Amino acid sequence: MSKAGTVKRPFILAIRAVFGGLFLLLGVAGFFAFAAGFADYPVVEPAPDAKPWIRGAYHVHTTRSDGNGTPAKVARAAKAAGLDFVVLTDHNDFKPPAATWVDGVLLIPGVEISTNAGHLTAFGMQRPIEGVTPWGPPEQAVAEVEAAGGTAVLAHPVQTKNPWKDEATAHQVPGFELYSADTFFRQALRSPVSRLLPAVGASLVNPVHGVMLLAVPEPRPTERFLELARERKRIALCGHDAHGVPAYEDIFNALGMELPPDVLSGPLSQNAREAAAQVTQALASGRALCVFRALGAPEGFTLEGFDTTTREAPVGTVLTVRLPEHTPGTLEVRVWGDGRLQPDGQHIELTGPGAVQVEVWAHAPGRFFGHEWRPWLVPSPVRVVPRPPGI
Ligand SMILES: [Zn+2]
Ligand SMILES: [Zn+2]
Repeated sequence: MSKAGTVKRPFILAIRAVFGGLFLLLGVAGFFAFAAGFADYPVVEPAPDAKPWIRGAYHVHTTRSDGNGTPAKVARAAKAAGLDFVVLTDHNDFKPPAATWVDGVLLIPGVEISTNAGHLTAFGMQRPIEGVTPWGPPEQAVAEVEAAGGTAVLAHPVQTKNPWKDEATAHQVPGFELYSADTFFRQALRSPVSRLLPAVGASLVNPVHGVMLLAVPEPRPTERFLELARERKRIALCGHDAHGVPAYEDIFNALGMELPPDVLSGPLSQNAREAAAQVTQALASGRALCVFRALGAPEGFTLEGFDTTTREAPVGTVLTVRLPEHTPGTLEVRVWGDGRLQPDGQHIELTGPGAVQVEVWAHAPGRFFGHEWRPWLVPSPVRVVPRPPGI
């Protein structure tokens, strides 16, 4: 064999291996695309005649930082997904434009501040944030958000890339992105074959299903959140961390923050500034729910038995979950922390003191043709306080 032949042969083999690998990946992605055609949403049908909740997106980037859509494009996507509001949180955008109604969608100014301990999102500021330098100390960012009348949130606090690393401020900040689309995506990167590939394949046919396949919660964020929730009232949020890939509309259709109508004093004001105050106060109250919207609308759900302002209840209290009408076997109440789910699956006895996290999970379309349990409705936690003396 000539020398040229010996060089050529490994080269051809390598090319064949690369193409073979690509075809195999395409084939596997094609399989998941095919399976996605059978994914049936929603799991829970909308409740007829229910007073609609107010629906929104939290933690969204635009062309004001590294997102690929203008605020107007984001508003159009939100409208198409049936949302009422979007909280824009561009990176270190300390002077965002004032709240505005665009196409029937309320754009609310917020920010995501880079600190040397991680990322902090914030909303509800009464004035621009001053004196904060990107990548500065976290306590400075937290203090300035508070001074401006805003609510601070630990963004994607438990993940490998940009976790929240400062213990002192973690205890101070009221909000916590319990579920973060960014964290889900980074988890999927660690399991490229079992998690990322099915999601990419499914996205070819059903993009919302593709996003939903990434929503596989790990225990660590919940454990960390509950640890913090024992000390004070905490707000659970789901952060889209939307940048335009996946498309804004698809990620808005997959998850969001939803407000029960009774949380607001009345319908959203036509005055954008007033409407923004209504929404941000409701988000800060902890009464909004993180909802995996593809699985169904939350109308008909309530969690009862605690003080809705303080989100506290004494040890021994029994909380009640009311679920919307659904096919038996498709929903499940799950409980973490200082509470015990009773055998009827809808009452939780508080065993604290501490904190309890109650969520409704749904039997959602899975990667193959079957189903996987996924979070659906995620309220903020309830603090379990000692029983008052003498009772
Ligand atoms: Zn971030
Ligand atoms: Zn972000």
